[in-house]
Amino acid sequence: MELCFATGNKNKLIEINKLLEPHGFNVKGLHDIGCFEDIPETADTLEGNALLKAQYVWDKYRIPCFADDTGLEVYSLNNEPGVYSARYAGPQKNNLDNIDLLLRNLSGKNDRKARFRTVISLILGEHEQHQFDGVVEGEIVEVLKGDHGFGYDPIFKPANYEITFAEMSLDEKNKISHRGKATQLLLQFLSGK
Ligand code: IMP
Repeated sequence: MELCFATGNKNKLIEINKLLEPHGFNVKGLHDIGCFEDIPETADTLEGNALLKAQYVWDKYRIPCFADDTGLEVYSLNNEPGVYSARYAGPQKNNLDNIDLLLRNLSGKNDRKARFRTVISLILGEHEQHQFDGVVEGEIVEVLKGDHGFGYDPIFKPANYEITFAEMSLDEKNKISHRGKATQLLLQFLSGK
């Protein structure tokens, strides 16, 4: 089965293919289907943005497709940065600026609990849309640790672990991560098709 993953991110595409290819799925990225536009993420929820991206591809190309959106939700900050995780510190979307702002906003707060959440929206036809959620609970540490991964990984310590995501191997992170869990649900669903 041929599917499009509405992303221009090569690493995400490689990761997803590693998981889905052995099950007979051929996943193409936006560039592979000739889409070079920057699909606007204008919704104010993860669900909304994931659906917006998948819907864009379906409407324009009529190819079965899925899209994801991820946010870091910090409880004592009213679930911020959430859907604005990528541009928390501004439109430059700089990871270290985002981390710096988050640590400053959390300074003096005792409750540092947080969770990562990924939503995947899948469109298989005009009237067939599905959604898969993956969550990992944890906390925000005070000092950056580790140099693997990306984004907020150096300050996110999953619950029941003594190390941050950035101190884990990619395989170890994928087993417990928000995106790993949402992707497993997508795979289970597609395998049953
Ligand atoms: P996206 O929806 O995957 O583009 O993610 C939005 C933002 O959340 C990214 O810019 C990252 O800063 C952050 N993010 C997403 N996934 C992860 C992760 O697995 N670790 C750390 N940060 C992440």
